Amino acid sequence: MSYDYDLFVVGAGSGGVRASRIAAGLGAKVAVAEDLYLGGTCVNVGCVPKKLFVYGSHFAEEFEAAAGFGWSVGETSFDWPILRDNKTKEIERLNGIYNNMLDNAGVEIVHGRGTVVDAHTVDVNGKQYTAERILVAVGGWPVVPDIPGKEHIISSNEVFYLDEFPKRVIVVGGGYIAVEFAGIFQGLGSETHLLYRGEMFLRGFDMDIREFVANEMTKKGVDLKFNSNATAIEKQADGSLLVTLTDSSTIEVDAIMYATGRKPKTENLGLENTQVELKPNGAIVVDDNFQTAEPSIYAVGDAIDRVQLTPVALAEGMALARNLYSKVEGHKTQVVDYDFIPTAVFSQPNIGTVGYSEEQAKEKFESVAVFKSNFKHMKHTLSGLDERTFMKLLVDQKTDKIIGCHMVGSDAGEIVQGLAIAIRAGATKADFDTTIGIHPTAAEEFVTMREPAYIIE
Ligand code: NDP
Repeated sequence: MSYDYDLFVVGAGSGGVRASRIAAGLGAKVAVAEDLYLGGTCVNVGCVPKKLFVYGSHFAEEFEAAAGFGWSVGETSFDWPILRDNKTKEIERLNGIYNNMLDNAGVEIVHGRGTVVDAHTVDVNGKQYTAERILVAVGGWPVVPDIPGKEHIISSNEVFYLDEFPKRVIVVGGGYIAVEFAGIFQGLGSETHLLYRGEMFLRGFDMDIREFVANEMTKKGVDLKFNSNATAIEKQADGSLLVTLTDSSTIEVDAIMYATGRKPKTENLGLENTQVELKPNGAIVVDDNFQTAEPSIYAVGDAIDRVQLTPVALAEGMALARNLYSKVEGHKTQVVDYDFIPTAVFSQPNIGTVGYSEEQAKEKFESVAVFKSNFKHMKHTLSGLDERTFMKLLVDQKTDKIIGCHMVGSDAGEIVQGLAIAIRAGATKADFDTTIGIHPTAAEEFVTMREPAYIIE
């Protein structure tokens, strides 16, 4: 049977675009359908604009720090529309680049929402496209719980386009997005409250890191309220929001942002017309090669909800396309390795991490040496800022291998990215110890931690 395409991709986000380009580059006839924006969450309402906001929010501290180095900065002010609109221009530039990349790769872009009609057919705006294979890469969408006044809540979808910058804001949640946005709002001058329902935010990260970040954020002025949640939101006559918390206290703010997780955007996608299986949260069930229970349908990225990170979606999309279309004789199936995925939280200061937390290591290894360092960054000897840096290494005593590496401090993501390569390659503590430091840097501390703080057995 002949089809219109070899591969029809639903969703032009990180995973979908990468898979489309690689597949087309390998000779497949490919189309990709997108109803929102090219580049998906990461480019439009995620990683990219968020990082631009993080840069923007850092200037207040830099102005403050400048005096110690002899600079008089004078009066400063922040103009939200300039940051917002410059960011939007950059995103539009990137959308154009994505368009050209797909065009140049020979991928046909179909504008509209793709729904699956059957195992080999996708409908977009009433037109049907057939394909030998379909890739579902529809990503995820913010989840906001039902509470009275829910209509006043903004999520990470709206926060990048606000008409007015809130002078007072509540952020609800304790994951990546909540912690990053609390730092952004605080840095840009909002009175910022963060509500987290549990004892300590950033569940899953090393406890030392969580506590250290909480302390640093508090020092910068973020009001962290743990064991707390919003129960109702009421709009007042002057337009402000009165938010009631679990302890019945109230806070008046101009905006309330929820960052309470994201779920796969697989509703109303027509998957019920096929054998594709979904988990209770809507995630598509796939095997190691991203194949669903319907053999011609594949899925990658946030839609399968393995690890919600752009570079993971890229790796999945790339592995799939190569495995399906490589012409190299004896092509060895590429399997995505989910172990030791480095990640950063662009909190202020940043978190960079790879490998096991101390709590996870305790469960998995017999004996672990824990190295820690807590120091004042050289810059802050003159900046007058009270920010500290924290680093931690976990070493499996049996093999001497580094099994966890964690940092809180400026450029933690940049530093840990490099270390992650060594750690994935099996670096031992002895390798770290014999590596000569780059002086003077904060990163050199990772190769000069001599004595363990303690051993866990
Ligand atoms: P996360 O899943 O990381 O965190 C959700 C947070 O919301 C948790 O603290 C959770 O609490 C809390 N929560 C969930 N439901 C409720 C509720 N009903 N009421 C109150 N709190 C609630 O989601 P995010 O939205 O922060 O981010 C989504 C994903 O995007 C992340 O998992 C991450 O992988 C990715 N991302 C990555 C970034 C990066 O790489 N720098 C940046 C931003 C996002 P609890 O812990 O108790 O469950």
